[in-house]
Order: sequence, then C-alpha cells, then structure tokens
Amino acid sequence: MTHEHEVIVVGAGPAGATTATILAQQGHEVLLLDRHNFPRDKTCGDAIPAEAVGIMTELGMGERVATAVARGEFYPLASLRLVSPHRYEMEAPLQKGRLGTDSYVAPRLYFDAVIQQHAVALGATFQQAQVTAPVVKNGRVTGVLAKVNGRVQTLRARVVVGADGVTSSITRALRPKAAQHIDKHRAVALRAYLEGIDIYPNQVEFYLYKDILPGYAWIFPTGARSVNIGLGMRLDHFRQKKQSLEKMLQQFLEMPAIKKRLHPGYTLRDVATWQLNFGSQAHLQHVYEGAILVGDAAGFINPLTGGGIHNSMISAKLAAQTVHQALCQGDTSRAAMLSYEQACHTEMWEGMKRSFNIQRTLLRFPLLVDVLIRGLRENSHLAQAFLTKL
Ligand SMILES: Cc1cc2nc3c(=O)[nH]c(=O)nc-3n(C[C@H](O)[C@H](O)[C@H](O)COP(=O)(O)OP(=O)(O)OC[C@H]3O[C@@H](n4cnc5c(N)ncnc54)[C@H](O)[C@@H]3O)c2cc1C
Repeated sequence: MTHEHEVIVVGAGPAGATTATILAQQGHEVLLLDRHNFPRDKTCGDAIPAEAVGIMTELGMGERVATAVARGEFYPLASLRLVSPHRYEMEAPLQKGRLGTDSYVAPRLYFDAVIQQHAVALGATFQQAQVTAPVVKNGRVTGVLAKVNGRVQTLRARVVVGADGVTSSITRALRPKAAQHIDKHRAVALRAYLEGIDIYPNQVEFYLYKDILPGYAWIFPTGARSVNIGLGMRLDHFRQKKQSLEKMLQQFLEMPAIKKRLHPGYTLRDVATWQLNFGSQAHLQHVYEGAILVGDAAGFINPLTGGGIHNSMISAKLAAQTVHQALCQGDTSRAAMLSYEQACHTEMWEGMKRSFNIQRTLLRFPLLVDVLIRGLRENSHLAQAFLTKL
C-alpha cells in the first residue's frame, strides 16, 4: 500500500518551509522533505530584508525572531554603504518593514531553522530525504522518488511543491532544457565567514569596482568582529574572466581599504560557491500538472542585488494560496493552478525588469557607477527613492 499525502514540499529552505507553514496553518496534511536535517548551512550573504521578517511576523514567528536576536544569532541592521570604483561612498538608512520589522544579517544555519521549526510546530511532518525526481504518470506529477534512510521510495501526493533551490530535481525534470535559465540571467557567488575585522556596526557594505561589475563584493557584519564576506558575478561575465572566485576574494582582501581593517591572524572559514537564477528571464513555466515551483527552484532572485529570500517567501505565499484553493476544489491540474504564474508576474516582474535594466546598463561602466553613487550621496531623497525601488 502506498500512502498518498495531500501535499509534498521538496526542500525546507525559506520557500519550502514558508509554503509548508501556510498550508499546515490552513489544516492541510503536509510532508516537508529536505536532504539535510536542520539546522544546516546554505551558502548565502545572510542579509534578511525587513519585509521578509515581516512575512515571518505575519505567520506567527515574531517570538522566534526575537529569541534569535536576543541570542545574537540575528544581527540587526540600520544602514547600508555603497562604495564606487573610485571610492566615492554613500550611506543610507535601511527602511523598516511595513510591520515595523528590522533587517538582519542572520546566518542561514539559524535563519532557516526558525522557519523549518515553525512549519513543524504548526503540523507539517518533516522527513530527511534526498529527492531524485518527480514521479510522472500520463503527463501528471503524482509524487516523488526519494531516498529515505538509505532506501529509495515512491512518495505520493495530490500536489508536489518544488522548493529545492537552484539545483532543483523537480525543475530539472519538468522544465524543458531549452526553457531553463540562460547565462545572462544567472550568477555565481562565493561566500565566507571572516573572524577578525573592524566592522561598521549595524551596516552592510557593498563594493562596486571595475573587475567585478556588474556584480559586487560585500561585507555583512554578523558580530562585533566577524562578517559574512563574499562576491558575485553574472555568469556570462564570469566565464569570460577565467579567474576563480577564490582568487577574486583574495584580491578583494588585498585592497588597501579592506586590508587595513583585518586583524593579525584573522580567519576565513566555510568558503563556498553557489549559483543564483534571476527572476528577470521572461516566460518561464512554474506550474505543471500536479506540481508548482517556488523560490530558487522557480528562479526569483533579484538580478541587481542577488537577494532571493524575500522573493522566495512571496512566491511561497502565492503558491500556498493557489494550492489551498486547488485542493479545496479537488483539482490540482495546471489549468486550476495557472493563476500562480500570473500572480508571481504581477507581484515581482516590474521590479525584476527594472533591476535587470539597471544592472545591464548602469552597472557595466565604472565611471557611470561613480557618477551614480556621487549623485545618490548628494541627494538623500533620490537615494531613498532609488534604493527602495530595487
Ligand atoms: C552566495 C550567495 C549569496 C546570497 N546572498 C543573499 C542575501 O544576502 N540575501 C538574500 O535575500 N538572498 C541571497 N541569496 C539568494 C538566496 O540564498 C536564495 O534566494 C534563497 O536561499 C532561496 O530560498 P529557497 O528556499 O528557494 O532555496 P534554498 O534556500 O536553496 O533551499 C532549498 C532547500 O532544498 C533542499 N534540497 C535541495 N535539493 C534537494 C533534493 N534533491 N532533495 C531534498 N531536498 C533538497 C536543500 O537542502 C535546501 O534546504 C544568495 C545566494 C548566494 C548563492
């Protein structure tokens, strides 16, 4: 006998755990799968925008966030600093979220565990399992093939949510290869944790310089003398460069403005690279017969900032709403769930297009970046308008 679940969510990152939280809250039976047990690391800059914390608050995680802040696991942010190729600098305060929430640097080891634990507390069943592919019968997804406790099993569900990130086994199987992300809508990035550096308290720093544009390097504080440090580049530019991201990080650390802040005997740990798929590629399919894609599995990362956590949670909310309606109507076909693609478009597309255009035009030319950052520095209203529209 094969037990059929109501919903299987593959991946318990912010997209999957948020989807599972909402569906469990609505009384659905949810099996949440992840290849890792939690807490677990995920390669990321760990910058959590205030609006993402707002979604957590809406979903009842306010106390969990407050506890993580009190334990020093979430580091609060107040401002950002942009540094241009010829070292023009601008600072701007970070806006609070609609619900008065703050932005944080929250290592994903802690951040993701908060949402995953909340989903479980609300009734989702968590199972460590490596999903290898969706099970497709007569063109319809009916479940997943997963390795659980060393044994390959078929797990069936009325609907499967693909939330397994940028290397999603669900997306790979369902989205035709010719319709997947192309290099100019992808990026690669490296992240490390550095202990032993002078920080700017409560401030995230972005460095835009000739060798990395239209990407950037970042320094995001996680404590009084520790930071998440890294850099990212668009994939097509990176391929032309023929230099490793590790080498580029060393060059960044050698820059006089950074080098003088490093303490003797500083340490770098957990150096890791990962991929990003931007939400600026048009006409991608996110809904299939019996399945729906959310977060990085669909590809909703902002092409200018590289931020994807807030969008992954927005897509999770929209997907959960769609799946809830589909289950209530007893129809989880593509036709019944298609409104999700339109809802994602309405919610995110304009912002993605604008961000891609800024990245593609302005951020390619170092002198233009100098002019832009000088302009923003001299006009704080313009800076606010620009930064809140990213
Ligand atoms: C270097 C780097 C820096 C970044 N910095 C930021 C930042 O500072 N702020 C920001 O907002 N965004 C940032 N992003 C983007 C952000 O990390 C992603 O957008 C976000 O993690 C998407 O969440 P998700 O839940 O869709 O996917 P993920 O967080 O990738 O979660 C996917 C989950 O699926 C699981 N999984 C994967 N495959 C399988 C499988 N086959 N079977 C079972 N489980 C599986 C994984 O273990 C994981 O838990 C960065 C990305 C990179 C690469």
